[in-house]
Amino acid sequence: MTCDDLRLRLSAAAIYSDEHFAAFLLNSDPLSGKLTATEQREIITGALHCGVEVARELGGRFAAVSPTELACRLGVKIVAGDLRSARLVLSTYDPHTTTVTLNKALIEKVEQCQCSQTLLPRNFNLTEITVAHELFHHVESGNKEVFSRQFKVTLWRFGPIRFPSTVSAAGEIAATVCAKTLCGLCFNPVLLEAVALYMEDEPRMTGWFDRLDRAG
Ligand SMILES: [Zn+2]
Repeated sequence: MTCDDLRLRLSAAAIYSDEHFAAFLLNSDPLSGKLTATEQREIITGALHCGVEVARELGGRFAAVSPTELACRLGVKIVAGDLRSARLVLSTYDPHTTTVTLNKALIEKVEQCQCSQTLLPRNFNLTEITVAHELFHHVESGNKEVFSRQFKVTLWRFGPIRFPSTVSAAGEIAATVCAKTLCGLCFNPVLLEAVALYMEDEPRMTGWFDRLDRAG
């Protein structure tokens, strides 16, 4: 696929709603097959609302501050790290050390890809988008009341014994929308996964778009 082809696919996919991207993320969760249609709707609605609320709360407490500055004020460290074991991951958050690790090599590749210019504002900064995503995980790790930690499904039952589990996609949906809201983006940042795949593992990109088109 050429960069122009990818631009066309990104432009076409950019019209999908946040609910559609949320369904895509939920479909990728290992637990998705265990969820009823009602639970799926609850997760999508609850996680989208939760992500916007956390972004508004953070934005309200620290008005007009960039996500990296926000992280600094919240005591979250940001380091450049080696994520070669997860080379398609832009960043991670470790709640034990309150540290965001940025996959700088991949972030730079995605920023420099011509296709990103289709999606992102002229002066965009992908580091800010990834830090904003991880700030949701920081808030989530410190607050048991957030939706992504509250919502649980029963994995199995044995008589009166139930084994409940959170659904990790709920946190990812919320983090994605938190980043979109905090950074004032006009597109869903899940689309950046496609650019990362294009740069690192193009054969998997077509399947990625097919799954996105079928979601929702
Ligand atoms: Zn995440």
